[in-house]
Amino acid sequence: MASGGVIGETLGGPRVLVVGGGIAGLGAAQRLCRNPAAPNLRILEATARSGGRIRSERGFGGVVEVGAHWIHGPSQGNPVFQLAAAFGLLGEKELSEENQSVDTGGHLALPSMCFTSSGTRVSLELVAEMASLFYGLIDQTREFLHVAETPVPSVGEYLKKEISQQVAHWTEDEETKKLKLAILNAFFSVECCISGTHSMDLVALAPFGEYTVLPGLDCTFSGGYQGLTNHIMGSLPKDVMVFNKPVKTIHWNGSFQEAAFPGETFPVLVECDDGGRFPAHHVIVTVPLGFLKEHQDTFFDPPLPAEKVEAIRKIGFGTNNKVFLEFEKPFWEPHCQFIQMVWEDTSPLQDTASGLQDSWFKKLIGFLVLPSFKSVHVLCGFIAGLESEFMETLSDEEVLLSLTQVLRKMTGNPQLPAPKSVLRSRWHSAPYTRGSYSYVAVGSTGDDMDLLAQPLPEDGTGPQLQILFAGEATHRTFYSTTHGALLSGWREADRLIGLWDLKMQQPHSRL
Ligand SMILES: Cc1cc2nc3c(=O)[nH]c(=O)nc-3n(C[C@H](O)[C@H](O)[C@H](O)COP(=O)(O)OP(=O)(O)OC[C@H]3O[C@@H](n4cnc5c(N)ncnc54)[C@H](O)[C@@H]3O)c2cc1C
Repeated sequence: MASGGVIGETLGGPRVLVVGGGIAGLGAAQRLCRNPAAPNLRILEATARSGGRIRSERGFGGVVEVGAHWIHGPSQGNPVFQLAAAFGLLGEKELSEENQSVDTGGHLALPSMCFTSSGTRVSLELVAEMASLFYGLIDQTREFLHVAETPVPSVGEYLKKEISQQVAHWTEDEETKKLKLAILNAFFSVECCISGTHSMDLVALAPFGEYTVLPGLDCTFSGGYQGLTNHIMGSLPKDVMVFNKPVKTIHWNGSFQEAAFPGETFPVLVECDDGGRFPAHHVIVTVPLGFLKEHQDTFFDPPLPAEKVEAIRKIGFGTNNKVFLEFEKPFWEPHCQFIQMVWEDTSPLQDTASGLQDSWFKKLIGFLVLPSFKSVHVLCGFIAGLESEFMETLSDEEVLLSLTQVLRKMTGNPQLPAPKSVLRSRWHSAPYTRGSYSYVAVGSTGDDMDLLAQPLPEDGTGPQLQILFAGEATHRTFYSTTHGALLSGWREADRLIGLWDLKMQQPHSRL
C-alpha cells in the first residue's frame, strides 16, 4: 500500500462504507443518501440477504419470523413503528390510538393455557399470582439504577433473595408451594429469553432499569418484519448494497492509495475475505456484538484501543432461539395465544444440575400460537441460553422427537400426533451473528455501550470519524431491539453529516 497525497482530499466527495446490511446499516445508509453531501456509499454485507437479525422466511403456507418478532412499544416515539406505518406495513388495529397507548411495562400478557410437565393444567389464577409477584420484583429492580452499591450483583440473585423471603410466609400445603416455585422458575426462563441470556445471574442489577420500554401493545407485521428492511433497501440507489462480501479487516489510521482512485489517498482500507479492497474516508461498523467478540482482534488493524476491547468483552451477548412446529390439527383451545410450560420439581431457589442432552428442553418457555394461515397450525417455541445453543447442534429429527415426547407428557395425551414439520433458528451458529442480542452483563454498565459507540480515532489525531460504530449493542437504553439498532444507524449517519456541515462552514474547505 503506497502512501502519499493529502488524506481526506477526494475528487468525488467522501467515500463511506457501511459494514453490515441489518437495520442499523440500512438506516445509516438511508440517512446518508438523503443528505445533500450524498457521499459515495456502499454497504458491504457478508451474506446473500439484507435485514440481518430481521429475517422473515416463507414457511407453513405463510411467513415466519426467524429473528425479530414484535415491534416493542409501537407508538409515536418508536422509529420502527413510524417507518412501518409510513410504508403501509401495519394494520388498522396496530395503528390505533388505543393500541399505542397500552402500557404493558414490557411484560408479555397473552391469553394462555398452562401445563405442567406431568400433564396437569395449572390454574391461570395461580399463574397470574406468580406473574404479579415476579414482575413486581422485576419492576423493583429500577430502584437500583444509579445507586453506588447494590445488595447483590445480578438481577437473578436479587429476584431469588426476594422470593426466598416471600416463601417463608407462604401458608399453602407443600405441593402448592412446590408448584408456585416451579411457575416462578418458568418466569425466570421467560426473562432469559427476553434478555437473551443463559441465566438472570449474568445480568447486572444496577443498570437493568436503564432499558427503556415504550408505550404500545407489541405488534407484528402480517406480511413479515423483513418488509420493513426490504422497503428501506428499495429506497437506496441500486448499486449501494454489495452482497456476499464478508469484511475481513478494517485497516485504519493509514494513508492508502488504490489504482482505481488515482491521485487520491484514504485513511481507511477495508479488506474483504475474497480479497476485495475498498478504500474509504469513513466506515460505519454495524456487525453484531457476537461477531465482534469473536473477531475483534483480527477485524481491526491497528487493533482497537484497550477500553473498547474491554467493553466488547464485558457487554453480554447471549442466545434466544425459536422452534416452529406445524400440526395437522390444533390441540390447544381456540382463543389460546400462548401455551406456557411449567417443569415440575424445578425452582429458582435450587440448581438442578442435569446434562444438556437429557434436559435441554426444560429451558423451553412454551409456545406462542401463530395466527393460522390457510388452516395450517403453527406453534413457535422460545428457548434461551446454553440449552438453546445445544439445541442448535441437534438434527431436526432429534428436536422433533424430544418435543413430541414433551408435548405428549404435558397434554397427558400419549397419542398426540407428532408435529408435521419443524423449522428452527440457529443464531449462535450463524457465523456473522454468533448469538441473538446484547444485555448489560454483571461487571458492565451502560457506559460500556456508550464506549463501544465512540468513533475512532479517539484522540483527535489523524482524520476524524474514520470508524463509527452502530448496531443494537451500541444503544444504551434500547439495546437488543430493532428500534435501538435503527436509531444507532441514524445517530452515526448524523455524526458524519455533522462533520461535513462543519467542514462546509469552514472557508476553502473540501470534504
Ligand atoms: C430470535 C430473535 C428474536 C428477536 N426478537 C425481537 C423482537 O421481537 N423485537 C425487536 O425489536 N428485536 C428483536 N430482536 C433483536 C433485533 O432483531 C436486533 O436487535 C436487530 O435486528 C439488530 O440489528 P443490527 O443492524 O444491529 O444487526 P444485524 O441485524 O445483525 O445486522 C448486522 C449485519 O452485519 C452483517 N455482518 C456481520 N459480519 C460481517 C462482516 N464481517 N462483513 C460484512 N457484513 C457482516 C450480518 O450478516 C448482518 O446482516 C430479536 C433477535 C433475535 C435473534
